[in-house]
Amino acid sequence: MLSIKDLNVSVKNNVILNRLNLEVKLGEVHAIMGPNGSGKSTLATTLAGSEDYDVTSGQVLFKGCNLLELEPEERAGKGVFMAFQYPLEIPGVSNQFFLQTAVNAVRKYRKQSPLDRFDFADFINTKIALLHIPADLLTRSVNVGFSGGEKKSNDILQMVALEPDLCILDETDSGLDIDALKMVTHGVNTLQNGERSFIIVTHYQRILDYIQPDYVHVMNQGRIVQSGDFSLVKKIEEQGYGWLTK
Ligand code: ADP
Ligand code: MG
Ligand code: MG
Repeated sequence: MLSIKDLNVSVKNNVILNRLNLEVKLGEVHAIMGPNGSGKSTLATTLAGSEDYDVTSGQVLFKGCNLLELEPEERAGKGVFMAFQYPLEIPGVSNQFFLQTAVNAVRKYRKQSPLDRFDFADFINTKIALLHIPADLLTRSVNVGFSGGEKKSNDILQMVALEPDLCILDETDSGLDIDALKMVTHGVNTLQNGERSFIIVTHYQRILDYIQPDYVHVMNQGRIVQSGDFSLVKKIEEQGYGWLTK
């Protein structure tokens, strides 16, 4: 599904990712942890496609194709989704219209016919019901005046609606109360079908109690310095990162 080889990424000539390697196979859930500033968001954003980050060398293959060559919209069309730490606000654009546009853009890429206003309303209402999200989120402007929890709900709604093959969550669990966290993890778990893969960037074990990761990685100074299974999360909770970052 995803193969990252010796990835180097710079921002304004500062090396942020330093020969990073990661393999994510079909259906796998990978958790990425690590101290602040270790490059987790840079990795996530580079995969989603951002102009701020210069890939200076290395390779990223996604479903056999060179991901780095694709524009962000093409990546979304190919099935990469990223839930941002700080979701975008779009005044004056209704959330339902925004979601319909996003879904139809991806359907076009998949050579599926677009959903009209009525079909989309049925489609998105089933997702709203599935996630137990208040329906008034659809009629408001995209993320404008949304609480932190509502923004996360909206992000997860978008993810569930787009049905991506690779879902990247960057600290989506930060600052969530237990009900919002359950909504996020329920969204992830309903998408899990053995064929979708997940990269979950987090600081906390909490989210990983609900979404069992197959692999846990720790980043430090722009690369993965330790990989293991869930027991690595326990060890970090108990001992912190000091033993990995010396
Ligand atoms: P993490 O998500 O692990 O906390 P980040 O990927 O956000 O780490 O940041 C890694 C390093 O890259 C930090 O030192 C940060 O200051 C730097 N960095 C990230 N994005 C930018 C940017 N747009 N401009 C300048 N420096 C950046
Ligand atoms: Mg951070
Ligand atoms: Mg970050």
